[in-house]
Amino acid sequence: MKIIICGGGIAGLATFLHLRKHLPNPSTHSIKIYESHRPRSTAPLSSLDLSTLSESTATVGGGLGISPNGMRVLRELDPALHDVVAAQGFRAENFVFKGANGWALGVQRTGDGGVRGVEGGEEEVCIASSRQGVWECLMRAVEEGGGVVRYAKVVGIERDDGSGVVRVRVVDEEGRVETEEADLLVGADGVKSVVRTALFGEDEKFKPTYTGLSGVGGFLSTPLPPAITHPPSMVFTFGRNGFFGYSSSRPLSSESLMWWSTFETSSLPNTKFIDPAAIKAALVERHKHWADPVVQDIVSKAKVESIYPTWVLPELPHWGERGVVLVGDAAHAMDPTTGQGASQALEDAQTLALLLKELLSTGETSRCITGSEKQRVDVAIKLLYDIRSPRAHEIVERGKKIAGRKANVGVVEEYFMEDNARGCESAVVYLVG
Ligand SMILES: Cc1cc2nc3c(=O)[nH]c(=O)nc-3n(C[C@H](O)[C@H](O)[C@H](O)COP(=O)(O)OP(=O)(O)OC[C@H]3O[C@@H](n4cnc5c(N)ncnc54)[C@H](O)[C@@H]3O)c2cc1C
Repeated sequence: MKIIICGGGIAGLATFLHLRKHLPNPSTHSIKIYESHRPRSTAPLSSLDLSTLSESTATVGGGLGISPNGMRVLRELDPALHDVVAAQGFRAENFVFKGANGWALGVQRTGDGGVRGVEGGEEEVCIASSRQGVWECLMRAVEEGGGVVRYAKVVGIERDDGSGVVRVRVVDEEGRVETEEADLLVGADGVKSVVRTALFGEDEKFKPTYTGLSGVGGFLSTPLPPAITHPPSMVFTFGRNGFFGYSSSRPLSSESLMWWSTFETSSLPNTKFIDPAAIKAALVERHKHWADPVVQDIVSKAKVESIYPTWVLPELPHWGERGVVLVGDAAHAMDPTTGQGASQALEDAQTLALLLKELLSTGETSRCITGSEKQRVDVAIKLLYDIRSPRAHEIVERGKKIAGRKANVGVVEEYFMEDNARGCESAVVYLVG
């Protein structure tokens, strides 16, 4: 089978690894990954415009927390990969919630308690990391598994209903256009997915919407404050005029402090280029009365490295058909407050690969499933949606409730946020780095 993965972010790379692990007769399948953006580690913010930033979290750099469920998927995929992801990041055992006025609102353990009696069932905790850090671990695993990421943008997708083949047009960095054929196209191309557009057309009701919230963030090289080291924690502070979080993104010994600040902007800024000085001035203004000295220290030293307008996707009636399937943010971009985007992408990748394993294997289990390989692939695509979309729906709904709390809140609401913070389960992670 020829498989093309559009997008080399967390969902795309994880899909490659799960398919390589689970597909029966691995040598009979070719899997290509196309990625439109080379990883950005050094490009200056001023060289990026908002449409680029909205296109891809790859260009944002940024930080994220992989929740225990996502870490468990990594362990099941490959314990060694799990361990390198955990080792390069920060083991955030607790979420600490505060009010901008300095009040402590609550502490919540992130650990899932482990799975008793199961080998590899050790407790998983949230791992805070730069997105780049997680991506590099996955990328190394892909390369070690013989995978290659081609830096080219998918610009056109056509399905030949007669042969069932999917034709994928790509443009490489030199502007050369090529057309590739696939039996399965996986759209792992994020919130502004072209694969989703090929499936649903230009209908606005299937397009992402801006949440009205944007975030800025970065990384500081500085000794870590005790608030996040004893015990290892991520700190989330809610205020009347926004939200501020800090944590480390590296092991405790590293002195790498990650921070992010979220604020309401009713419409996307309409300037073409982003002005880091103006963003910094707004950051200082927004947090100047916040009580936590760590927030003040970060704000005074911060160099704004990224800005991210947040987009969410309406729920889709399916995640694919006839040889084309969506995974990760392309299928269900959710509010970052859920802290589940990366973990849900990992769950999609694992579920898709396990379904294909069952449906394509010629063994005992699949004797009752009839049909050609293409028909079986289409059953896998449908089952992925049936199995995964109720879970994604539940998380999206939870995200909406939490998101309602992090926009600007009044003094009285801030007072009552103690109750809210307690109700947030392990989900309140809002990272922009
Ligand atoms: C501010 C913010 C904070 C977040 N915090 C968290 C968190 O704490 N925990 C968490 O789990 N998740 C978090 N997330 C979500 C998480 O980053 C995403 O859910 C996750 O990265 C999804 O990965 P993905 O691979 O589906 O999409 P992406 O990371 O967007 O990757 C898609 C890839 O496809 C590429 N691509 C796009 N179009 C094309 C094309 N036409 N051709 C080829 N390639 C293409 C892009 O360049 C990109 O590399 C956060 C997101 C944001 C925005």
